[in-house]
Amino acid sequence: MISPDRTVASATSTAASGVQAMGDQSADFQMSQNSVPLRVAVLGSTGSIGKNTLEVIAASDGRFEVHLLCGHRSVDVLVEQAHIYRPRWVVVTDPTAAAAIGSGAFPEGTELVIGPERLEELLAGPEVDRVVSAIVGAAGLRSTWSALAAGKTVALANKETLVTAGPLVTQLAARSGGVIVPVDSEHSAIHQALRSGRRHEVQRVVLTASGGPFRNHSKEQLADVQPKEALKHPTWSMGPKITIDSATMMNKALEIIEARWLFDLQADQLGVVVHPQSIIHSFVEFVDGSVIAQLGPPDMKLPIQYALAYPERYDGPAQRLDFSVAQRLEFSPPDLERFPAVRLGYDVAARGGTAGVVLNAANEEAVQAFLRGVVKFQQIAELCERAVEEHPFIGDPTLEDILRLDVWARKEVQTWMC
Ligand code: NDP
Ligand code: MG
Repeated sequence: MISPDRTVASATSTAASGVQAMGDQSADFQMSQNSVPLRVAVLGSTGSIGKNTLEVIAASDGRFEVHLLCGHRSVDVLVEQAHIYRPRWVVVTDPTAAAAIGSGAFPEGTELVIGPERLEELLAGPEVDRVVSAIVGAAGLRSTWSALAAGKTVALANKETLVTAGPLVTQLAARSGGVIVPVDSEHSAIHQALRSGRRHEVQRVVLTASGGPFRNHSKEQLADVQPKEALKHPTWSMGPKITIDSATMMNKALEIIEARWLFDLQADQLGVVVHPQSIIHSFVEFVDGSVIAQLGPPDMKLPIQYALAYPERYDGPAQRLDFSVAQRLEFSPPDLERFPAVRLGYDVAARGGTAGVVLNAANEEAVQAFLRGVVKFQQIAELCERAVEEHPFIGDPTLEDILRLDVWARKEVQTWMC
């Protein structure tokens, strides 16, 4: 294993911003096949990342065990998962949904816990060793925050946490000793590629993008896109919100911002390239011209396992790349005219401050409205741009400022859609 003190990772962790995303975790990390399993809290266990996480844990040969499951409304799925994984706690964050659970639904030894406040308490407690943060949207911020504040290692899928409050979250982790390891496949690839060099040797980081289902659509065709078409992603199987984000390429905008804060990069060190096969998950260009990339089939089990087990690697359930069959890898620049969200991502990453929270909140509202048929596909990016432009920008916001502007942006976008 590479000595972490020689990696970009550790240089990043000691940077002025105190980014802990890639710190030296080898000392803290106690995973071993023969030792006591690490107790994992899976937040968003009923979703796409959550279900993949449970498969990774089931195939971990006792390295990990499910200690806490958390869902919002899919209580039937939670009950089923509890019978398979026998966690200590099942948390249902929506009290109305929890009220529908019959007594005796859970197996012996599993306790039902209701509401986000109780979840935060449990995550901060000593019985949770690792947290997989896979709640969708800004709703994932509070639980991620409380796990990091308690110094936990968080496998972070919920990119919205860093988009809304990146600098505050990384500073919190630096203070508490909490560690963020990315689950997002692009950021996992970058995290892995960065281990090839030192911080000052990094020239640029390039995120790959599948381009989504409408990569070759004209502007006129994009005007007529329907939700059911946008919900069909060509290479990845994901939850509905991120699938729409991929179609508008807002997902790449969110990922540019996520990478900026996670790896403590300048906005002009970030690039995007369209790569429809989703085999190369992102790459890092070093000052000598070397480009280090990470490859794999489009299967989230690999980045999930990497984040849970970092800095170890083991033979897990992720699909393998088959080089015995012909592979075609194509690259092209994104079209910022047809997909203005990408430009917005660059702008927001450069502006920092409250631009991220406003972009994210506006996007969440606009995506829901698109799925309900209230706004057209191209209006999603328009609404987001307007919200970012019109909001009362704060360069160095507090958490309260961020939460207030999240509410502001949602209300404004709702008004504009009426
Ligand atoms: P899904 O829509 O499949 O799942 C969302 C999960 O969040 C569900 O468990 C849902 O619970 C829960 N949830 C929804 N609202 C709330 C709330 N208010 N409070 C608590 N829990 C809530 O999403 P994905 O799994 O696709 O994505 C999860 C996160 O991971 C997102 O941030 C996404 O951007 C990120 N991500 C996903 C990837 C993927 O391949 N899917 C890839 C990279 C990142 P319930 O079903 O019980 O209502
Ligand atoms: Mg991604």
